[in-house]
Amino acid sequence: MATSYDAVVIGAGIIGAATALSLARGGRRVLVVDKLPASGYGSTSGSCAIVRPFYSTLEGSALAYESHFYWMEWEDFVGKGDERGLARYVNCGNLVVRCSRNKYLNPILAVMREIGCPYRELNPEEVKQRLPIVTLESFDPPRRPEDAAFGTSNGEMLPGAVFFPTGGYVTDPQLAAHNLQVAAEGAGAVFRFNTTVTAIPRRAGRVDGVMLEGGEHVSAPVVVNVAGPHSFKINQMADVERGMKIKTKALRHEVAHVPSPPGFDYEHDGIHFSDQDTATYCRPEVGNHILIGSEDPECDKKEWVDPDNFSRELTEQGRIQAMRVAQRFTGLPIPSRVRGVVELYDVSDDWIPVYDKSDLPGFYMAVGTSGNQFKNAPVVGEMMAALIDACEAGQDHDTDPVGFHLRHIDRTVSLGFYSRRREIDTRSSFSVLG
Ligand SMILES: Cc1cc2nc3c(=O)[nH]c(=O)nc-3n(C[C@H](O)[C@H](O)[C@H](O)COP(=O)(O)OP(=O)(O)OC[C@H]3O[C@@H](n4cnc5c(N)ncnc54)[C@H](O)[C@@H]3O)c2cc1C
Repeated sequence: MATSYDAVVIGAGIIGAATALSLARGGRRVLVVDKLPASGYGSTSGSCAIVRPFYSTLEGSALAYESHFYWMEWEDFVGKGDERGLARYVNCGNLVVRCSRNKYLNPILAVMREIGCPYRELNPEEVKQRLPIVTLESFDPPRRPEDAAFGTSNGEMLPGAVFFPTGGYVTDPQLAAHNLQVAAEGAGAVFRFNTTVTAIPRRAGRVDGVMLEGGEHVSAPVVVNVAGPHSFKINQMADVERGMKIKTKALRHEVAHVPSPPGFDYEHDGIHFSDQDTATYCRPEVGNHILIGSEDPECDKKEWVDPDNFSRELTEQGRIQAMRVAQRFTGLPIPSRVRGVVELYDVSDDWIPVYDKSDLPGFYMAVGTSGNQFKNAPVVGEMMAALIDACEAGQDHDTDPVGFHLRHIDRTVSLGFYSRRREIDTRSSFSVLG
């Protein structure tokens, strides 16, 4: 095992593995270190892995729309080298209800037209044809079950929904990270697991690799923090938080896993369904099940946690999310013991990621993914490599932001959008919707 590399990537999640792949493809000798035993075992493993093109901002939407094409061409992107097989992209599309909370989707549809992303507006009858279990009563505002009005309609009907064909979900997020690892190894990257970064050393005014548990120093002129919910701890080790206007912290989240309503095959006939009226989202899951996540309504207390010390036990929260979906999906069964997953989001102050350099030369970060960046990982890997190439070649990204061309949708975005020094982006939903 070498003790010096061209770049060290901290974290072998979906975004760390993608970054390693792009850096290795660019000719760098890359080491990836992760304290867990395999790639994608961190927050990536709990991801719902939904792919959707709509975000609150034009830049966020453009990146997400572009990402759809990488998943469509996954085999071309990662190759066939993984003997465990390839993660599968189920391109079932997204169905999003129009409601007052999302301004009936009008701002998002304007962005979709601007970036050329297709969509189809569905009236209530067409929504029912696509998903017969749906009722379009409005339950706004989202409530908790202790509220006497929980589960009662406010008397209004929702005007329909919008179908986005360039979306769906990836069946196995951990396998997708492994696919990227194998591709990165094919390009020369080295992965070390069960290996914890404990310090970020400096030499001559720039980063000099990482210190590992046990005292080993691995030297490198470039280090990338892709530590997911631990990102703030790595930034503190590097002492770069002071130079960041946007910071990150870990948020605990529950995803419930319930059977489909009897007589309906959600696994095969379902869709990614986003419903701000009840503040929930769902997607099909194997075994004719439905995964149910939360769109972070104000009535739910946010659980900011220490990523090294939090409970992985599902609580009442998972059941509440299922009960909210039961308002929308007629006949949704709620088992006496709701099963599910507990994982952490790495949330930034405005729920938009930080893909940037830092004030420490050579130290970069792809952090603050805020529960919504799995889909973008393959493009983010390429963006990070382009950013690092430009900065290492002398470009001052803080004053002269690097541009990145999204080749499938033929649009160039400024990576300044993801700057650590930006003001809070008030266009954000300040939720998992980004
Ligand atoms: C419940 C849930 C649902 C989600 N649903 C979606 C979705 O539907 N669609 C979507 O696009 N996104 C979704 N996301 C978000 C998405 O999963 C994340 O943005 C993405 O997985 C983050 O990947 P990552 O590589 O940055 O982080 P991680 O996968 O968390 O990887 C970080 C790695 O860093 C390692 N690490 C940390 N500290 C150290 C250290 N000191 N030394 C060595 N290694 C270290 C960890 O072990 C970990 O493996 C969801 C997230 C969650 C939690």
